[in-house]
Amino acid sequence: MAVVGPSRHSRVSMSVSMSLMQGGGAGATAGGGTTGAHPGQAVLAAAASGQGPPNYYHPNGPAPPPPPPPTQDPAQPDRPIGYGAFGVVWAVTDPRDGRRVALKKLPNVFQSLVSSKRVFRELKMLCFFKHENVLSALDILQPPHVDFFQEIYVITELLQSDLHKIIVSPQHLSVDHIKVFLYQILRGLKYLHTARILHRDIKPGNLLVNSNCVLKICDFGLARVEEPDKNKHMTQEVVTQYYRAPEILMGARHYTAAVDVWSVGCIFGELLRRRILFQAQSPVQQLELITELLGTPSLEDMKYACEGAKTHMLRRAPKPSSIAALYTLSTQATHEAVHLLCAMLMFDPDKRISVVDALAHPYIDEGRLRYHSCMCTCCYTSNSGVRIYTTDFEPATVNPFDDLWERKLGTVQQVKEAMHTFIGEQLNSTRVPLCINPQSAAFKSFASSTVAHPSELPPSPHQW
Ligand SMILES: [Zn+2]
Repeated sequence: MAVVGPSRHSRVSMSVSMSLMQGGGAGATAGGGTTGAHPGQAVLAAAASGQGPPNYYHPNGPAPPPPPPPTQDPAQPDRPIGYGAFGVVWAVTDPRDGRRVALKKLPNVFQSLVSSKRVFRELKMLCFFKHENVLSALDILQPPHVDFFQEIYVITELLQSDLHKIIVSPQHLSVDHIKVFLYQILRGLKYLHTARILHRDIKPGNLLVNSNCVLKICDFGLARVEEPDKNKHMTQEVVTQYYRAPEILMGARHYTAAVDVWSVGCIFGELLRRRILFQAQSPVQQLELITELLGTPSLEDMKYACEGAKTHMLRRAPKPSSIAALYTLSTQATHEAVHLLCAMLMFDPDKRISVVDALAHPYIDEGRLRYHSCMCTCCYTSNSGVRIYTTDFEPATVNPFDDLWERKLGTVQQVKEAMHTFIGEQLNSTRVPLCINPQSAAFKSFASSTVAHPSELPPSPHQW
């Protein structure tokens, strides 16, 4: 489809200020990795090729030979930038081309069958994703011999900030910012949901943003393939509490992609208000805040809740809906915005809007137009200045993500061997493989970086 001439939205590129982008965030206070600018500190090194065994790092192995001369830009030392649910992320330099990339360490992989399968799942997903609004693996570090294989390092694109840092910053967010962020969240989520993947931890800190306002969903540590069998129990230890859907708060044994849409609704409200929408101290209080806004749910709306949670809800004095309060979130809370927000914040997951329907809501139109006018990589401008648009603005996955492989793996050793083989298959034969440089000054703090602050892990569900 060719659309002639820019609209009033076109080519006005979005940006958020770089001073904001370079703000510290979680990583800047951690680890002490910002140890100056001496070359030789670089965490990453190119593995020696054609000279016997590669000088990869493994925790219990002999010291490797010295790494090749570093090419690190002295102005940009390797440093920690954040913690996911199950990993530590550093900003590092790729010694092959000097490009700054993100290096994620997935430690303690083989402690149990559950943890090793979870890491393998995350790794497979990162290698599977091919979408502008979903973070994917650029490379995986060459693993040591399977006997020494304990940790996994994945390289992804480096984005300067995330939506949490932007929301808490003094940066002005226009309605255009909100629309283009919301559009990209839904666009990425449509891709995930058509792949049958539930993210299960959508929150502002897991939405990376670069200085041009391009947004990517990251951190698949809690993601899984949807469960078609409604009789199968799914874990409730998912989703950071403020963004957790009411059915999970009420002990539902089975839930769907609608839990991610609830989280998006909370983030939409937070973008408008510049404060967390439902900020409670405990899961029970979280439910309390939700019902203060939406009113006491009907029995029908609580059909997935466990009996204890239903009894708790019915014992309390009924509350009226105060949904009109959403208009006071901000001057940007127009009727259209509140209409979409209410559709995302439906108590009953069966009545909650789907990602596909949300993308068809009129509130999203301007975000779509702006994104494809100057931010995407799927459309382009011809030499004569005509914008040539893609035929599919919000692509689905070609094939769903397959999780049948998980069922065949019954022991930690089987997972370890399968993962080792998988990584070997992913390594790009045309590029020199990368490895960790254990002699680098920054490596010590990198190696000792702890996984996720306890406060960042989803709290345990309430026992109803
Ligand atoms: Zn496009």
